[in-house]
Amino acid sequence: MTCYLHPHTPAIATCKDCRQPVCEVCLVKVNGKLYCEHCAVNRHQQSPLWAGVFSFFVPGLGQLYNGDWAKGIAILLTGWLILPWVYGVIDAVLVAQAIAQGEREAATVAPGYIILAMKLGVIGLSCLYLSLVWTVISFFMAVAGLSLAQP
Ligand SMILES: [Zn+2]
Ligand SMILES: [Zn+2]
Repeated sequence: MTCYLHPHTPAIATCKDCRQPVCEVCLVKVNGKLYCEHCAVNRHQQSPLWAGVFSFFVPGLGQLYNGDWAKGIAILLTGWLILPWVYGVIDAVLVAQAIAQGEREAATVAPGYIILAMKLGVIGLSCLYLSLVWTVISFFMAVAGLSLAQP
């Protein structure tokens, strides 16, 4: 059997999506599974780091990223209890790790543009958080400065 893109090169595996034989050069490994380079374009490597970051800023968002919609919505609704939020961050990282190593199948794979939008949204949120924290700190520093100035 030879590679379907290189008719003179022996195939070493079959693509998981299109079932075509692929050679060493065309073989791409995503989340522990083997794809040809064309099918790999539609796949993305699950990132435990991003899953944790998503869940840190928005409770349940890391679960949505992992394809656990029901769990994500449950955590989103109970995130104000703090404990589900903390659990959500840990769970998002562990599940993303399992998916990345091919131990677990992602139930739904979010398209690349949705993941990009999520990343941009989280970066925007973190800027908002930082400016909010900075406003609070400078407000208290101003108040402290005023009370110190008064005899
Ligand atoms: Zn393929
Ligand atoms: Zn090839």
